[in-house]
Amino acid sequence: MMLDLIFPEICSVCETPFAGVHPVCGNCHSEMKFLREFSSCGKCGAPFGFFSDENNEGADDGPPMSESGHLCGRCLRGSFSFETARSVVLYEGGIRDMIHEFKYEGGLGHEGFLSSLLIENFPFPRDGFDLIVPVPMHISKLRIREYNQSAVLAFRLARHSGIKCDLFTFKKIRDTRPQIEFRNEEERRRNVKGAFSVTSRGAFKGRSVLLVDDVFTTGSTSDECAREILGAGASRVSVFTLSRAKAV
Ligand SMILES: [Zn+2]
Ligand SMILES: [Zn+2]
Repeated sequence: MMLDLIFPEICSVCETPFAGVHPVCGNCHSEMKFLREFSSCGKCGAPFGFFSDENNEGADDGPPMSESGHLCGRCLRGSFSFETARSVVLYEGGIRDMIHEFKYEGGLGHEGFLSSLLIENFPFPRDGFDLIVPVPMHISKLRIREYNQSAVLAFRLARHSGIKCDLFTFKKIRDTRPQIEFRNEEERRRNVKGAFSVTSRGAFKGRSVLLVDDVFTTGSTSDECAREILGAGASRVSVFTLSRAKAV
């Protein structure tokens, strides 16, 4: 007789017991909205028709095309210095709570599941990057929170993908207010302007860099980081974040 054992697992998101092969229960999995299922901007990855303020400005026959696909209104105006930005899931529901715990409440137990989302949904060619670099945290915040959630994600992604991870060259040199305190993009840009620095000038020269963060909202932080890294001679910078939040 077959002994059919079902091992109850605890769902990584809602923490209820369930039996299954994934780290997430069926409910939570079906609630997660994966960006790859949306039609989105070929450059910044904004999903069309989901965030009202990021709708394409346009015509009935769809948004304009570029060589990288349809572009949103902001990218048509050429506002970002990174090459492309991609995210895995929308920042909402259980996954938002989980990222919040991971970021602010010492929820380091979530790192395995959250980094597996990045690893399993990696949208770029494997050989496309020389370096993975996390969005850095200022030392004063690092002392309080004890780890930089973006560095944890970047390190795990790098280890799995075989791409070198540089955790030390790119630094946050000025502490900033949390971006969430600012509603408008101009204020967000001003908040992070000049806050980051490449501390060893030669390290990024001619390198193709993948910048990793937990959440992409207006893209102000990613853009400021990309400008700094490109200014240090990197050949290109793309952005990969775990989630994408609605800019309100
Ligand atoms: Zn669940
Ligand atoms: Zn765009």
